[in-house]
Amino acid sequence: MKRTIIEVILALALVGAGAFGWTNFKGNQKATGQLTELTAAAEEAAKAAAEKDAAIKAAEEEMAAVRAELAPLEGQAQQLAAVKAAMANGATLADLEAAYKSQKNLSAERQVGLGALRMLTKGAEDPAAIESFRKALQLSELGDRKNTICAAQLALAAAGEKVAVMADCLPKGTKTEKASQDDKAAAKDVHGKDDGHDHAKDDGHGKADDKKAPEKHAVHWSYDGEMGPERWGKEFPTCAKGKSQSPLDIRGPFVKTRTVVTTDYKEGPLKMINNGHTIQVNVPPGSKIRIDGVPHELLQFHFHRPSEEKIDGKPMAMVVHFVHKNAEGKLAVLGVLLKEGNENPGIKTLWANMPMEEGPEVTPEGVNFNPANLLPREFDFYSYEGSLTTPPCTEGVRFFILKSTVNVAKEQVAAFPFKRNARPVQELNGREITTN
Ligand SMILES: [Zn+2]
Repeated sequence: MKRTIIEVILALALVGAGAFGWTNFKGNQKATGQLTELTAAAEEAAKAAAEKDAAIKAAEEEMAAVRAELAPLEGQAQQLAAVKAAMANGATLADLEAAYKSQKNLSAERQVGLGALRMLTKGAEDPAAIESFRKALQLSELGDRKNTICAAQLALAAAGEKVAVMADCLPKGTKTEKASQDDKAAAKDVHGKDDGHDHAKDDGHGKADDKKAPEKHAVHWSYDGEMGPERWGKEFPTCAKGKSQSPLDIRGPFVKTRTVVTTDYKEGPLKMINNGHTIQVNVPPGSKIRIDGVPHELLQFHFHRPSEEKIDGKPMAMVVHFVHKNAEGKLAVLGVLLKEGNENPGIKTLWANMPMEEGPEVTPEGVNFNPANLLPREFDFYSYEGSLTTPPCTEGVRFFILKSTVNVAKEQVAAFPFKRNARPVQELNGREITTN
């Protein structure tokens, strides 16, 4: 049976509401259990002597509170039951799946809608429904779309999946459960999507598989205060426990290496994002470096102020991190230190187009940029094995920090919208620093 687009959209809106209803319904079941317990407690207390009057009163008050909470949930549960009955024959799901089949990439919102419909039709534990929510979660983490993240997290949690639910997503008064680790959360793509390009939102550091040390998902971290670098380890264990963390204070003795790095960066349309942690330029396919001949595609580059890396204990005004990935998914970061001096024409172009506030990627019309504009002429480097310098601090990232610096004007440094976005230097822990 054929359905019109309008019907599909209506169905989506309905199941969107249903997904929330479903999670509430699950909560409702729990609350009913609580109520039974409380009733028993109150009865027992009633049999006891007069000194227990106070306890009874307290229990009764609690019961009243639970009843008040339950009343609206019951209404929602009824609505949900009606929606479920309407979806039971599976025709709507089949139609929607058929309609989406031709689309290669579904948006996070559509994934949630599809997941909700599968859940309503086939039940909360349906693997396809769970998969939809996981996909939605992955996608939406890139875009930081809170409502979609919440819907997907709550739906997965309701289905009994191990997933961290952000405190913001929980109904008021709910205690944040210390949710278990979610392998997808570990894969939170901070350096760029798997295809390496067109990342909607990155915090400027790469993705690497970190199967050994999966990290809990948390959206919020910063460079100071409550969620500053010293606290990252609480939410992202590798940040505290990792033994090959970046950045480093680079100092001798150095080990000589014969590794050769060459760059092949191309001009392309400028795409920039202010992701709340840095200014990042997302690079279209085609730019790469070769490390001993092995191509590593440039995904993006971004800035830190002051430079995260220090040379003999001294930071520079800023650093650019060029983030690359090879065919095996291994990340390599090329760092170019920016030293206060003359105006930098490349940065002038970038700064003229950068979004000053956190938000989605911008693509200023008719502006092209070649990342090579930010490279020095000389290619001598320091190299070491390190990590992402932002949560989840995943290790297995190779760093090449160029010895030659490029200039940046004092005014240009001052115009960068992040006053301080540099992680402190980390322990060397016996790592070798090589130099060519
Ligand atoms: Zn960086």
